[in-house]
Amino acid sequence: MLEASGLMVFYENMLALNNVRIRCDQNQIVGIFGANSAGKSTLMYALSGIVLDIQKKEEMAGGERITVAGSVRYQDREVMHLSPSRRARLGIVLCPERRRIFKESTVLENLKIGGYLASAAQAKETLAYVFEVFPALYKLRNRIGGFLSGGEQQMLAIGRALMAQPKILLLDEPLLGLSPLMQAMLMRTTREIRDRRNISIIVTEQYARPVFPIVDYAFILENGSAVLEGTRDELMDNPDVRAAYFGV
Ligand code: ATP
Repeated sequence: MLEASGLMVFYENMLALNNVRIRCDQNQIVGIFGANSAGKSTLMYALSGIVLDIQKKEEMAGGERITVAGSVRYQDREVMHLSPSRRARLGIVLCPERRRIFKESTVLENLKIGGYLASAAQAKETLAYVFEVFPALYKLRNRIGGFLSGGEQQMLAIGRALMAQPKILLLDEPLLGLSPLMQAMLMRTTREIRDRRNISIIVTEQYARPVFPIVDYAFILENGSAVLEGTRDELMDNPDVRAAYFGV
């Protein structure tokens, strides 16, 4: 469904992604695990096209030179040259790290903004689904985004991404700073979203433990390179992976 190969991203002279190849098949949940600065967000920016926006912005501001190379194929079509909004229209939707919700807008407004690409009927149906899987958001629908807890903001960020009608959802560190209970709930819901909506999912995290139960396949990113990959069972059987990403 989505396959990236030969991905390279340089921030000025710093190599943030080094010849990365990853893939996600239809209806799969794929995990990308790596320590701080391993390149997880940069990979998500490359897959979603945000990296092109960052590149342009830096160029216009006379800032650092960002070099991007490689291929992102989605449903048998090269999309690397497409902007984030063109990719979103095709179904590649990013739910960014640190929950970039609109802090001044209400929960309902945030969700409606997320649905700007959808038809009125799609938006209505998806909104009902979002409130079904995140009942807390329904209760909070008139609350201003900035007043939500971290977990509620993450639910809202996922809900808003769903409103954009993804076929593949890119979840960048959705569990950062959340309680174990909230993490488990979000991962259960992520799996339910894949099962019920047939949405493929790529999820990044620093620690594999809370995400591992729901992934079909995973890649380990170190210093910008994908150094290991395998099914959940294959990686679980690898003592180095267990020590580095599970603390056992
Ligand atoms: P974290 O878990 O801290 O978010 P990450 O795995 O998502 O880390 P990235 O944010 O992709 O890693 O960063 C990879 C490397 O690229 C880091 O060394 C980071 O400092 C650097 N980097 C990221 N964005 C920029 C930028 N706009 N300009 C310069 N360097 C950057």
